[in-house]
Amino acid sequence: MSTDTTQIEKLIDGELSWEELRNDVLPDPKDPDRFETTRQILQEKVEFDEPILVPLNDHLFAVGTEDGRVVKGECGHEFGPLADNWKEYCKVRVREDESEMRELYPENMTPEPDWQFQLREFFCPECFTLIDVDAVPAGYPVLKPFDPDIDAFYEEWEDRTPPDRE
Ligand SMILES: [Zn+2]
Repeated sequence: MSTDTTQIEKLIDGELSWEELRNDVLPDPKDPDRFETTRQILQEKVEFDEPILVPLNDHLFAVGTEDGRVVKGECGHEFGPLADNWKEYCKVRVREDESEMRELYPENMTPEPDWQFQLREFFCPECFTLIDVDAVPAGYPVLKPFDPDIDAFYEEWEDRTPPDRE
């Protein structure tokens, strides 16, 4: 299997980060259409027709709509404008006591209750897909993982207009 195919499969399985995508996968002069191919494969897998701009993780996408750029899940559920923090649009389950942790961790790996450690599980409110998990100290702010500069990405890396501005 070629490296290219492996990387595209990793992207689709959600194992490839934005940084890897941008730094390692896309800048290949031999295959300038690689990102577009990937984007089209992702587009076929989701339940909506508005154009995917970039994947945010394996379940979330920046999408161009008539109402501007938004975050959508695979099922089409909308998690607010792209500029917002999509985590605030999720259903969240917080695990912080020992029995809740024990459901996930083997006994000798259960985080010490004294650590004030929380697992925050972020779910799609519509289809209940687990979208992301934060392991953070209690009281830690709910931060979004990154903020892609979509226009710069398309213009500088892909040398084209973003699909929602064509
Ligand atoms: Zn969903």
